[in-house]
Amino acid sequence: MKRLVLAGAGHAHALVLRALVRQPMPGVEVVVISPEPLAPYSGMVPGWLSGHYRFDEIAIDFPPLAAAAGARWCRGEIHALDPARRQLRLADGSTLDYDVLSLNVGSTLQPPPAEHAQMLPLRPLAMLHRRYEKLLERWAREPADRPFVVSAVGGGAAGFEALLAVLTRLRALRPDHTVHGSLLTRGTRLLPGLAPAARRAAQRALDRAGVTVQFGSGWCTSVDRSSDAVLWATGAEAHAWQRDPVRRGSLAVDEQGFVRIDEQLRSVSHPQVFATGDCASWSGQALPKAGVHAVRMGPVLASNLRAALTVPAAAGDLRVHRPQRHFLALLATGDGRAIASRGPFGAEGAWAWRWKDRIDRHFLQQFVATQATPPHASQPASQPAKSLNPLAEVSARHSGESQ
Ligand SMILES: Cc1cc2nc3c(=O)[nH]c(=O)nc-3n(C[C@H](O)[C@H](O)[C@H](O)COP(=O)(O)OP(=O)(O)OC[C@H]3O[C@@H](n4cnc5c(N)ncnc54)[C@H](O)[C@@H]3O)c2cc1C
Repeated sequence: MKRLVLAGAGHAHALVLRALVRQPMPGVEVVVISPEPLAPYSGMVPGWLSGHYRFDEIAIDFPPLAAAAGARWCRGEIHALDPARRQLRLADGSTLDYDVLSLNVGSTLQPPPAEHAQMLPLRPLAMLHRRYEKLLERWAREPADRPFVVSAVGGGAAGFEALLAVLTRLRALRPDHTVHGSLLTRGTRLLPGLAPAARRAAQRALDRAGVTVQFGSGWCTSVDRSSDAVLWATGAEAHAWQRDPVRRGSLAVDEQGFVRIDEQLRSVSHPQVFATGDCASWSGQALPKAGVHAVRMGPVLASNLRAALTVPAAAGDLRVHRPQRHFLALLATGDGRAIASRGPFGAEGAWAWRWKDRIDRHFLQQFVATQATPPHASQPASQPAKSLNPLAEVSARHSGESQ
């Protein structure tokens, strides 16, 4: 029996599992590994930060989804990869062999150490969850004798949306307490990828929230000293194991450590390794690190993994990924409104928020798999220093489908 390892509970892997629920792959053992069972859907993160959604409402619950797909979910994290031996080393010291590996492990951020401010990197989202809970606990006790200052570093969509969302939440929880917001970007304008009308709408939203914007400025000691909390939202970075030549082995990566893939989503150096979403560097063109690309890659990945595992992997059987040139961006402004931008067109209003809310809820709904297995009842991390034996614990395939 061949083994497919899906590493990372990213958006593309959620779609692969959904495809497996609909059409199983007989003769293939599927193992899914990720550090956390709940995988937040990035589009809804600002809505969670603002208090509109609970954390569990914005997340895909991977263990039951994997079980419904006849796969086994394991709590685990890649520490190193030996592509020549087709083996992963996990953070707990165990190893996991594969015939085909698919990487959908997202990206990370490395903020500088902060001495004074509470630092909240927006990636990984599991860490953001814990740190945000701590910030809210602190906020409940914070004396109201001086303004509380929240800064965001990064002028892209994540910094913009997260800052407005956090300001909304803090102000709603303690209307008696003054909160100031500031947004710092090294660039000369905000949200460079958006339509001009959308950028103007973004500036109006920042004005409504009383946010000061500093262009051409980055992190410095004075920001650390003058802020109570910092939302770190600079550009996505590759995980440490991808950046380390020893830990990634002979896997081809670009200069930042993102896995170089061809148009069929396969590693350019190792055809048994696929990579999608933020962790990948697509050879066709540089793609922005956005969830929308991971989502679009999902169905192509599902089809190509099937082709790679069920027939001798001939290049002709694999589909080519064709990214959209323009895609719809919907940015929440935290006040019940959103900004829509696509190509040269931009607009804002409460209608855009309702539209975004509907699209995002609909996206998540498709992953509400059969819940016959209790959530998070899946296996703990693997046995130290020996190969996993996922077959022994593969959950029974569910006959009922959730779709
Ligand atoms: C606040 C915020 C808002 C955003 N809003 C939007 C938006 O509205 N629209 C949009 O298109 N993009 C948005 N983005 C960008 C978006 O989050 C990412 O581009 C997207 O999540 C990438 O998806 P992915 O499938 O590649 O990985 P992810 O969704 O990040 O999933 C990666 C998975 O891999 C797991 N993992 C990590 N390391 C390991 C390891 N070593 N071993 C095993 N598993 C591992 C993680 O736990 C996680 O389950 C936003 C980002 C932020 C921070």
